[in-house]
Amino acid sequence: MFSSIRTKLTLWYVGFLTLVVVMFGAAAYQITVRELDRDLNRRLEEISQVFIAGTKAETDDEQETGHDRVVETGINEFQFRDYHFVVRGQSSAFTATTKEIEGKNITLTGKRFSDIRIGDKSFRVFETGFSLGTDQYKLLVLHSLDEEIELKNRLLTLFLLAGVLGVALAGIGGYFLVRRSIAPVIEMSREAGEISAENLGQRLSVRGRRDEVGQLAQVINDLLARLDHSFEQQRRFMADASHELRTPLAIVRGEAEVALSKDDRSPAEYRESLSILHDESKRLTKIVEDLFTLARVDAGQVAVNFAPVYLDEIVSDAIRSMRVLADQRQVAITIDGGAEMPFDGDESLLRRMILNLLDNAVKYSHRGGKVVVNLLSTGDKYQISVSDNGIGIPDEDQPKIFDRFYRVDRARSRSDETATSGAGLGLSITRWIAEMHGGKIVLVSSTADGSTFSVIFPR
Ligand code: ADP
Repeated sequence: MFSSIRTKLTLWYVGFLTLVVVMFGAAAYQITVRELDRDLNRRLEEISQVFIAGTKAETDDEQETGHDRVVETGINEFQFRDYHFVVRGQSSAFTATTKEIEGKNITLTGKRFSDIRIGDKSFRVFETGFSLGTDQYKLLVLHSLDEEIELKNRLLTLFLLAGVLGVALAGIGGYFLVRRSIAPVIEMSREAGEISAENLGQRLSVRGRRDEVGQLAQVINDLLARLDHSFEQQRRFMADASHELRTPLAIVRGEAEVALSKDDRSPAEYRESLSILHDESKRLTKIVEDLFTLARVDAGQVAVNFAPVYLDEIVSDAIRSMRVLADQRQVAITIDGGAEMPFDGDESLLRRMILNLLDNAVKYSHRGGKVVVNLLSTGDKYQISVSDNGIGIPDEDQPKIFDRFYRVDRARSRSDETATSGAGLGLSITRWIAEMHGGKIVLVSSTADGSTFSVIFPR
Protein backbone atom coordinates (compact mmCIF):
# COMPACT_ATOMS: atom_id res chain seq x y z
CA MET A 1 0.00 0.00 0.00
CA PHE A 2 2.78 2.41 0.95
CA SER A 3 4.61 1.63 -2.25
CA SER A 4 1.93 3.23 -4.41
CA ILE A 5 2.79 6.67 -5.73
CA ARG A 6 -0.67 7.81 -4.77
CA THR A 7 -0.11 7.07 -1.07
CA LYS A 8 3.46 8.30 -1.10
CA LEU A 9 2.58 11.61 -2.70
CA THR A 10 -0.37 12.10 -0.37
CA LEU A 11 1.77 11.33 2.68
CA TRP A 12 4.47 13.74 1.53
CA TYR A 13 1.86 16.37 0.86
CA VAL A 14 0.16 15.90 4.24
CA GLY A 15 3.52 15.82 6.02
CA PHE A 16 4.63 19.02 4.41
CA LEU A 17 1.29 20.69 5.04
CA THR A 18 1.35 19.64 8.70
CA LEU A 19 4.78 21.20 9.07
CA VAL A 20 3.57 24.44 7.52
CA VAL A 21 0.37 24.50 9.60
CA VAL A 22 2.24 23.76 12.83
CA MET A 23 4.80 26.46 12.13
CA PHE A 24 2.21 28.95 11.08
CA GLY A 25 -0.12 28.05 13.99
CA ALA A 26 2.66 28.25 16.57
CA ALA A 27 3.72 31.66 15.28
CA ALA A 28 0.14 32.96 15.22
CA TYR A 29 -0.51 31.62 18.71
CA GLN A 30 2.68 33.20 20.06
CA ILE A 31 1.87 36.57 18.54
CA THR A 32 -1.72 36.53 19.80
CA VAL A 33 -0.66 35.53 23.32
CA ARG A 34 2.00 38.21 23.41
CA GLU A 35 -0.52 40.78 22.19
CA LEU A 36 -2.96 39.73 24.93
CA ASP A 37 -0.19 40.03 27.50
CA ARG A 38 0.83 43.46 26.34
CA ASP A 39 -2.78 44.55 26.34
CA LEU A 40 -3.21 43.40 29.91
CA ASN A 41 -0.01 45.17 30.97
CA ARG A 42 -1.14 48.33 29.28
CA ARG A 43 -4.48 48.21 31.06
CA LEU A 44 -2.78 47.63 34.42
CA GLU A 45 -0.53 50.61 33.83
CA GLU A 46 -3.42 52.84 32.75
CA ILE A 47 -5.51 51.89 35.72
CA SER A 48 -2.63 52.56 38.08
CA GLN A 49 -2.28 56.01 36.52
CA VAL A 50 -5.99 56.68 36.96
CA PHE A 51 -5.76 55.53 40.56
CA ILE A 52 -2.74 57.70 41.31
CA ALA A 53 -4.27 60.73 39.60
CA GLY A 54 -7.53 60.22 41.48
CA THR A 55 -5.79 59.89 44.80
CA LYS A 56 -3.66 62.98 44.15
CA ALA A 57 -6.78 64.97 43.30
CA GLU A 58 -8.38 63.89 46.54
CA THR A 59 -5.27 65.02 48.45
CA ASP A 60 -5.46 68.48 46.84
CA ASP A 61 -9.11 68.86 47.90
CA GLU A 62 -8.78 67.65 51.43
CA GLN A 63 -5.39 69.29 52.15
CA GLU A 64 -3.33 67.87 54.95
CA THR A 65 -5.93 65.55 56.48
CA GLY A 66 -3.54 62.61 56.31
CA HIS A 67 -2.45 60.94 53.18
CA ASP A 68 -2.94 57.39 54.43
CA ARG A 69 -6.63 58.02 54.91
CA VAL A 70 -6.98 59.46 51.42
CA VAL A 71 -5.36 56.33 50.06
CA GLU A 72 -7.64 54.09 52.06
CA THR A 73 -10.76 55.90 50.85
CA GLY A 74 -9.39 55.80 47.36
CA ILE A 75 -9.04 52.04 47.49
CA ASN A 76 -12.55 51.61 48.81
CA GLU A 77 -14.02 53.92 46.24
CA PHE A 78 -12.04 52.64 43.32
CA GLN A 79 -14.20 49.86 42.04
CA PHE A 80 -12.75 48.23 39.00
CA ARG A 81 -14.02 44.81 38.26
CA ASP A 82 -11.27 42.22 38.58
CA TYR A 83 -8.64 44.78 39.46
CA HIS A 84 -7.27 44.85 42.98
CA PHE A 85 -5.08 47.43 44.63
CA VAL A 86 -2.51 47.30 47.37
CA VAL A 87 -0.84 50.47 48.59
CA ARG A 88 2.01 50.40 51.05
CA GLY A 89 3.55 53.33 52.78
CA GLN A 90 7.26 53.42 52.68
CA SER A 91 8.29 54.32 56.19
CA SER A 92 5.20 53.44 58.20
CA ALA A 93 3.72 49.99 58.25
CA PHE A 94 0.72 51.30 56.39
CA THR A 95 -1.03 48.89 54.03
CA ALA A 96 -4.36 49.37 52.35
CA THR A 97 -5.85 46.59 50.32
CA THR A 98 -8.95 45.94 48.23
CA LYS A 99 -11.38 43.72 50.08
CA GLU A 100 -11.11 40.66 47.84
CA ILE A 101 -7.46 40.12 48.58
CA GLU A 102 -7.38 41.52 52.10
CA GLY A 103 -5.08 39.69 54.46
CA LYS A 104 -3.30 37.91 51.67
CA ASN A 105 0.44 37.98 51.92
CA ILE A 106 1.77 39.77 48.87
CA THR A 107 5.51 40.29 48.61
CA LEU A 108 7.05 43.01 46.49
CA THR A 109 9.29 41.79 43.69
CA GLY A 110 10.72 45.15 42.67
CA LYS A 111 9.87 44.38 39.01
CA ARG A 112 7.30 46.42 37.10
CA PHE A 113 5.36 43.34 36.02
CA SER A 114 5.29 39.93 37.63
CA ASP A 115 2.99 36.93 37.92
CA ILE A 116 2.19 35.63 41.37
CA ARG A 117 -0.08 33.01 42.90
CA ILE A 118 -2.44 33.70 45.70
CA GLY A 119 -4.03 30.52 46.90
CA ASP A 120 -4.92 28.61 43.76
CA LYS A 121 -5.29 31.73 41.63
CA SER A 122 -2.75 33.44 39.38
CA PHE A 123 -2.43 37.20 39.17
CA ARG A 124 -0.49 39.65 37.08
CA VAL A 125 0.96 42.39 39.30
CA PHE A 126 1.99 45.85 38.25
CA GLU A 127 4.23 47.63 40.70
CA THR A 128 4.89 51.39 40.78
CA GLY A 129 5.68 54.14 43.20
CA PHE A 130 3.97 57.48 43.82
CA SER A 131 4.10 60.24 46.35
CA LEU A 132 1.54 62.36 48.10
CA GLY A 133 3.24 65.44 49.43
CA THR A 134 6.33 64.08 51.06
CA ASP A 135 4.91 60.61 51.66
CA GLN A 136 6.16 57.88 49.43
CA TYR A 137 3.87 54.98 48.51
CA LYS A 138 4.14 51.76 46.60
CA LEU A 139 1.14 50.83 44.49
CA LEU A 140 0.41 47.28 43.33
CA VAL A 141 -2.37 46.68 40.83
CA LEU A 142 -3.42 43.03 40.50
CA HIS A 143 -5.49 41.37 37.89
CA SER A 144 -6.60 37.76 37.89
CA LEU A 145 -5.07 35.75 35.08
CA ASP A 146 -7.97 33.27 35.03
CA GLU A 147 -9.54 34.91 32.02
CA GLU A 148 -6.26 35.08 30.19
CA ILE A 149 -5.47 31.45 30.85
CA GLU A 150 -8.95 30.46 29.81
CA LEU A 151 -8.60 32.48 26.62
CA LYS A 152 -5.21 30.98 25.86
CA ASN A 153 -6.59 27.49 26.33
CA ARG A 154 -9.51 28.20 24.08
CA LEU A 155 -7.19 29.64 21.48
CA LEU A 156 -4.98 26.59 21.66
CA THR A 157 -7.94 24.24 21.25
CA LEU A 158 -9.21 26.29 18.36
CA PHE A 159 -5.84 26.31 16.63
CA LEU A 160 -5.40 22.58 17.15
CA LEU A 161 -8.88 21.78 15.88
CA ALA A 162 -8.57 24.05 12.87
CA GLY A 163 -5.12 22.66 12.11
CA VAL A 164 -6.13 19.02 12.35
CA LEU A 165 -9.30 19.64 10.38
CA GLY A 166 -7.45 21.67 7.74
CA VAL A 167 -4.73 19.07 7.31
CA ALA A 168 -7.29 16.24 7.17
CA LEU A 169 -9.36 18.07 4.55
CA ALA A 170 -6.30 19.00 2.52
CA GLY A 171 -5.08 15.40 2.81
CA ILE A 172 -8.33 14.02 1.44
CA GLY A 173 -8.35 16.66 -1.27
CA GLY A 174 -4.71 15.92 -2.05
CA TYR A 175 -5.39 12.21 -2.25
CA PHE A 176 -8.11 12.71 -4.82
CA LEU A 177 -6.01 15.23 -6.71
CA VAL A 178 -3.09 12.82 -6.88
CA ARG A 179 -5.47 10.05 -7.86
CA ARG A 180 -6.84 12.16 -10.62
CA SER A 181 -3.46 13.09 -12.01
CA ILE A 182 -2.19 9.53 -11.73
CA ALA A 183 -5.26 7.98 -13.30
CA PRO A 184 -3.92 8.35 -16.86
CA VAL A 185 -0.71 6.58 -15.82
CA ILE A 186 -2.72 3.70 -14.38
CA GLU A 187 -4.83 3.64 -17.50
CA MET A 188 -1.65 3.63 -19.57
CA SER A 189 -0.12 0.72 -17.66
CA ARG A 190 -3.35 -1.21 -18.12
CA GLU A 191 -3.29 -0.53 -21.85
CA ALA A 192 0.40 -1.39 -22.09
CA GLY A 193 -0.25 -4.64 -20.23
CA GLU A 194 -2.54 -5.75 -23.03
CA ILE A 195 0.09 -5.29 -25.71
CA SER A 196 2.15 -8.32 -26.67
CA ALA A 197 4.01 -9.62 -29.72
CA GLU A 198 0.66 -10.54 -31.28
CA ASN A 199 -0.86 -7.06 -31.20
CA LEU A 200 2.18 -4.82 -31.43
CA GLY A 201 0.21 -2.59 -33.76
CA GLN A 202 -1.89 -1.38 -30.82
CA ARG A 203 -1.01 1.98 -29.31
CA LEU A 204 -1.59 3.76 -26.03
CA SER A 205 -4.33 6.35 -26.24
CA VAL A 206 -2.75 9.77 -25.90
CA ARG A 207 -6.01 11.74 -26.24
CA GLY A 208 -4.36 15.03 -27.12
CA ARG A 209 -2.42 15.25 -23.87
CA ARG A 210 0.50 17.64 -24.03
CA ASP A 211 1.68 17.11 -20.45
CA GLU A 212 4.37 14.76 -19.12
CA VAL A 213 2.00 11.81 -19.17
CA GLY A 214 1.16 12.51 -22.80
CA GLN A 215 4.86 12.73 -23.57
CA LEU A 216 5.48 9.42 -21.83
CA ALA A 217 2.69 7.80 -23.81
CA GLN A 218 4.17 9.26 -26.97
CA VAL A 219 7.62 7.88 -26.11
CA ILE A 220 6.14 4.44 -25.41
CA ASN A 221 4.15 4.59 -28.63
CA ASP A 222 7.29 5.46 -30.58
CA LEU A 223 9.07 2.57 -28.94
CA LEU A 224 6.19 0.27 -29.85
CA ALA A 225 6.31 1.53 -33.41
CA ARG A 226 10.02 0.74 -33.62
CA LEU A 227 9.48 -2.68 -32.08
CA ASP A 228 6.57 -3.32 -34.39
CA HIS A 229 8.69 -2.30 -37.34
CA SER A 230 11.58 -4.58 -36.44
CA PHE A 231 9.20 -7.44 -35.63
CA GLU A 232 7.61 -6.95 -38.99
CA GLN A 233 11.05 -6.91 -40.59
CA GLN A 234 11.95 -10.16 -38.84
CA ARG A 235 8.72 -11.78 -39.96
CA ARG A 236 9.27 -10.65 -43.52
CA PHE A 237 12.85 -11.81 -43.38
CA MET A 238 11.73 -15.29 -42.25
CA ALA A 239 9.04 -15.46 -44.88
CA ASP A 240 11.32 -14.26 -47.67
CA ALA A 241 14.12 -16.54 -46.54
CA SER A 242 11.95 -19.64 -46.57
CA HIS A 243 10.50 -18.59 -49.87
CA GLU A 244 13.95 -18.20 -51.40
CA LEU A 245 15.07 -21.57 -50.08
CA ARG A 246 12.00 -23.32 -51.36
CA THR A 247 12.76 -22.99 -55.10
CA PRO A 248 16.28 -24.45 -55.15
CA LEU A 249 15.17 -27.19 -52.78
CA ALA A 250 12.26 -28.04 -55.10
CA ILE A 251 14.67 -28.19 -58.03
CA VAL A 252 17.03 -30.47 -56.10
CA ARG A 253 14.19 -32.75 -55.12
CA GLY A 254 12.63 -32.81 -58.58
CA GLU A 255 15.92 -33.51 -60.25
CA ALA A 256 16.75 -36.33 -57.82
CA GLU A 257 13.30 -37.84 -58.31
CA VAL A 258 13.68 -37.73 -62.09
CA ALA A 259 17.11 -39.35 -61.86
CA LEU A 260 15.79 -42.10 -59.60
CA SER A 261 12.59 -42.75 -61.50
CA LYS A 262 14.16 -44.84 -64.23
CA ASP A 263 16.49 -47.75 -63.64
CA ASP A 264 18.51 -47.55 -66.79
CA ARG A 265 19.92 -44.14 -67.48
CA SER A 266 22.95 -43.23 -69.46
CA PRO A 267 25.98 -41.88 -67.56
CA ALA A 268 25.52 -38.64 -69.47
CA GLU A 269 22.02 -38.25 -68.09
CA TYR A 270 23.26 -38.92 -64.55
CA ARG A 271 26.04 -36.41 -65.09
CA GLU A 272 23.50 -33.87 -66.24
CA SER A 273 21.33 -34.44 -63.15
CA LEU A 274 24.31 -34.35 -60.82
CA SER A 275 25.51 -31.12 -62.37
CA ILE A 276 22.10 -29.53 -61.75
CA LEU A 277 22.15 -30.81 -58.19
CA HIS A 278 25.63 -29.39 -57.79
CA ASP A 279 24.64 -25.96 -59.12
CA GLU A 280 21.54 -25.77 -57.00
CA SER A 281 23.36 -26.83 -53.85
CA LYS A 282 25.96 -24.15 -54.56
CA ARG A 283 23.16 -21.65 -54.84
CA LEU A 284 21.65 -22.92 -51.63
CA THR A 285 24.99 -22.63 -49.89
CA LYS A 286 25.32 -19.04 -51.04
CA ILE A 287 21.80 -18.12 -49.96
CA VAL A 288 22.27 -19.76 -46.57
CA GLU A 289 25.61 -18.01 -46.13
CA ASP A 290 24.07 -14.64 -47.00
CA LEU A 291 21.16 -15.26 -44.67
CA PHE A 292 23.55 -16.24 -41.93
CA THR A 293 25.59 -13.07 -42.46
CA LEU A 294 22.51 -10.85 -42.38
CA ALA A 295 21.12 -12.58 -39.31
CA ARG A 296 24.43 -11.98 -37.54
CA VAL A 297 24.54 -8.38 -38.79
CA ASP A 298 21.09 -7.84 -37.26
CA ALA A 299 22.20 -9.39 -34.01
CA GLY A 300 25.37 -7.26 -34.09
CA GLN A 301 27.46 -10.40 -33.95
CA VAL A 302 29.69 -9.99 -36.96
CA ALA A 303 33.26 -9.55 -35.82
CA VAL A 304 34.91 -6.90 -37.96
CA ASN A 305 38.71 -7.09 -37.84
CA PHE A 306 40.13 -3.79 -38.89
CA ALA A 307 43.69 -4.01 -40.14
CA PRO A 308 45.84 -2.10 -42.63
CA VAL A 309 45.03 -3.38 -46.13
CA TYR A 310 45.47 -2.25 -49.73
CA LEU A 311 42.17 -1.78 -51.52
CA ASP A 312 43.82 -2.05 -54.96
CA GLU A 313 45.23 -5.48 -54.04
CA ILE A 314 41.87 -6.71 -52.77
CA VAL A 315 40.28 -5.58 -56.04
CA SER A 316 42.95 -7.36 -58.14
CA ASP A 317 42.51 -10.53 -56.09
CA ALA A 318 38.74 -10.43 -56.51
CA ILE A 319 39.05 -9.94 -60.27
CA ARG A 320 41.37 -12.94 -60.39
CA SER A 321 38.82 -15.13 -58.56
CA MET A 322 36.05 -13.93 -60.87
CA ARG A 323 38.00 -14.76 -64.02
CA VAL A 324 36.76 -18.35 -64.40
CA LEU A 325 33.13 -17.36 -64.16
CA ALA A 326 33.67 -14.36 -66.42
CA ASP A 327 35.42 -16.49 -69.02
CA GLN A 328 32.55 -18.96 -68.97
CA ARG A 329 30.22 -16.11 -69.80
CA GLN A 330 32.70 -14.57 -72.19
CA VAL A 331 32.80 -11.39 -70.20
CA ALA A 332 36.04 -9.43 -70.08
CA ILE A 333 37.06 -7.74 -66.85
CA THR A 334 39.60 -4.92 -67.00
CA ILE A 335 41.00 -2.69 -64.31
CA ASP A 336 41.58 0.98 -64.75
CA GLY A 337 43.93 2.91 -62.46
CA GLY A 338 46.45 1.20 -60.28
CA ALA A 339 47.71 3.54 -57.60
CA GLU A 340 48.24 2.08 -54.13
CA MET A 341 45.23 2.49 -51.85
CA PRO A 342 46.26 1.85 -48.24
CA PHE A 343 43.19 1.55 -46.04
CA ASP A 344 42.07 0.35 -42.63
CA GLY A 345 39.48 -2.38 -43.01
CA ASP A 346 38.39 -5.97 -42.77
CA GLU A 347 40.02 -7.76 -45.66
CA SER A 348 37.56 -10.64 -46.07
CA LEU A 349 34.51 -8.36 -45.83
CA LEU A 350 35.98 -5.92 -48.36
CA ARG A 351 36.78 -8.81 -50.71
CA ARG A 352 33.23 -10.04 -50.36
CA MET A 353 31.93 -6.60 -51.19
CA ILE A 354 33.97 -6.35 -54.40
CA LEU A 355 33.10 -9.92 -55.35
CA ASN A 356 29.39 -9.19 -54.96
CA LEU A 357 29.66 -6.20 -57.30
CA LEU A 358 31.75 -8.10 -59.84
CA ASP A 359 29.43 -11.09 -59.60
CA ASN A 360 26.41 -8.92 -60.40
CA ALA A 361 28.25 -7.15 -63.22
CA VAL A 362 29.19 -10.47 -64.83
CA LYS A 363 25.82 -12.08 -64.09
CA TYR A 364 23.81 -9.30 -65.69
CA SER A 365 26.13 -8.84 -68.68
CA HIS A 366 25.44 -10.08 -72.18
CA ARG A 367 27.76 -12.63 -73.67
CA GLY A 368 30.89 -10.90 -74.85
CA GLY A 369 30.24 -8.01 -72.47
CA LYS A 370 32.81 -5.83 -70.75
CA VAL A 371 33.22 -5.07 -67.06
CA VAL A 372 35.51 -2.22 -66.09
CA VAL A 373 36.72 -1.64 -62.56
CA ASN A 374 37.89 1.90 -62.02
CA LEU A 375 40.05 2.83 -59.03
CA LEU A 376 40.25 6.47 -58.10
CA SER A 377 41.96 8.05 -55.15
CA THR A 378 41.65 11.74 -54.38
CA GLY A 379 42.88 13.76 -51.43
CA ASP A 380 40.09 12.71 -49.11
CA LYS A 381 38.47 9.61 -50.58
CA TYR A 382 38.82 6.34 -52.45
CA GLN A 383 36.34 5.42 -55.10
CA ILE A 384 35.93 1.95 -56.58
CA SER A 385 33.54 1.82 -59.53
CA VAL A 386 32.31 -1.31 -61.27
CA SER A 387 30.74 -0.70 -64.68
CA ASP A 388 29.20 -3.17 -67.05
CA ASN A 389 27.44 -2.90 -70.38
CA GLY A 390 24.76 -5.39 -69.38
CA ILE A 391 21.00 -5.34 -69.15
CA GLY A 392 20.72 -2.44 -66.72
CA ILE A 393 18.12 -1.85 -64.01
CA PRO A 394 14.74 -0.30 -64.81
CA ASP A 395 14.28 3.17 -63.29
CA GLU A 396 11.43 2.14 -61.01
CA ASP A 397 13.50 -0.66 -59.47
CA GLN A 398 16.64 1.37 -58.88
CA PRO A 399 15.68 2.72 -55.45
CA LYS A 400 14.90 -0.78 -54.15
CA ILE A 401 17.83 -2.88 -55.28
CA PHE A 402 19.66 -2.42 -51.98
CA ASP A 403 16.69 -3.84 -50.09
CA ARG A 404 16.89 -7.36 -48.80
CA PHE A 405 15.46 -10.04 -51.05
CA TYR A 406 14.80 -7.51 -53.74
CA ARG A 407 15.40 -8.78 -57.24
CA VAL A 408 14.38 -6.80 -60.27
CA ASP A 409 12.83 -9.65 -62.13
CA ARG A 410 12.85 -13.00 -60.46
CA ALA A 411 12.42 -14.83 -63.72
CA ARG A 412 15.37 -12.90 -65.14
CA SER A 413 17.87 -14.03 -62.53
CA ARG A 414 16.30 -17.44 -62.11
CA SER A 415 16.74 -18.29 -65.77
CA ASP A 416 20.33 -17.32 -65.38
CA GLU A 417 22.37 -20.46 -65.46
CA THR A 418 25.14 -19.32 -63.14
CA ALA A 419 25.06 -20.93 -59.77
CA THR A 420 25.84 -17.58 -58.14
CA SER A 421 22.47 -15.96 -58.70
CA GLY A 422 21.38 -15.18 -55.23
CA ALA A 423 18.29 -14.33 -53.33
CA GLY A 424 18.56 -10.57 -53.66
CA LEU A 425 20.74 -10.29 -50.57
CA GLY A 426 24.05 -9.48 -52.25
CA LEU A 427 23.62 -5.71 -52.48
CA SER A 428 22.23 -5.32 -48.97
CA ILE A 429 25.30 -7.11 -47.60
CA THR A 430 27.52 -5.00 -49.86
CA ARG A 431 25.94 -1.83 -48.57
CA TRP A 432 26.34 -2.96 -44.98
CA ILE A 433 30.06 -3.68 -45.55
CA ALA A 434 30.57 -0.25 -47.16
CA GLU A 435 28.80 1.51 -44.27
CA MET A 436 30.69 -0.58 -41.74
CA HIS A 437 33.87 1.00 -43.11
CA GLY A 438 32.47 4.52 -42.97
CA GLY A 439 31.77 4.52 -46.68
CA LYS A 440 28.74 4.26 -48.94
CA ILE A 441 27.66 2.55 -52.11
CA VAL A 442 25.74 4.26 -54.88
CA LEU A 443 24.25 3.21 -58.14
CA VAL A 444 25.83 5.91 -60.27
CA SER A 445 23.84 5.14 -63.38
CA SER A 446 21.93 2.34 -64.97
CA THR A 447 20.42 2.29 -68.42
CA ALA A 448 19.65 -0.39 -70.97
CA ASP A 449 23.32 -0.06 -71.97
CA GLY A 450 24.71 -1.01 -68.61
CA SER A 451 25.17 -0.03 -64.98
CA THR A 452 27.83 1.56 -62.80
CA PHE A 453 28.07 1.01 -59.04
CA SER A 454 30.53 3.01 -56.95
CA VAL A 455 31.81 2.45 -53.45
CA ILE A 456 33.24 5.53 -51.80
CA PHE A 457 35.44 5.36 -48.70
CA PRO A 458 36.86 8.26 -46.76
CA ARG A 459 40.66 8.15 -46.62
P1 ADP B 1 21.27 -11.10 -56.33
O1 ADP B 1 22.00 -11.86 -55.33
O2 ADP B 1 19.94 -11.66 -56.71
O3 ADP B 1 22.07 -10.66 -57.48
P2 ADP B 1 21.62 -8.43 -55.35
O4 ADP B 1 21.18 -7.84 -54.07
O5 ADP B 1 23.07 -8.53 -55.59
O6 ADP B 1 20.86 -9.78 -55.54
O7 ADP B 1 21.00 -7.53 -56.47
C1 ADP B 1 19.64 -7.17 -56.44
C2 ADP B 1 19.07 -7.00 -57.81
O8 ADP B 1 19.64 -5.86 -58.45
C3 ADP B 1 19.39 -8.16 -58.71
O9 ADP B 1 18.40 -9.13 -58.63
C4 ADP B 1 19.40 -7.53 -60.08
O10 ADP B 1 18.13 -7.55 -60.65
C5 ADP B 1 19.80 -6.10 -59.83
N1 ADP B 1 21.22 -5.85 -60.17
C6 ADP B 1 22.24 -5.81 -59.34
N2 ADP B 1 23.40 -5.53 -60.00
C7 ADP B 1 23.07 -5.40 -61.30
C8 ADP B 1 23.80 -5.11 -62.49
N3 ADP B 1 25.12 -4.89 -62.49
N4 ADP B 1 23.13 -5.02 -63.67
C9 ADP B 1 21.80 -5.24 -63.69
N5 ADP B 1 21.03 -5.52 -62.59
C10 ADP B 1 21.65 -5.60 -61.43
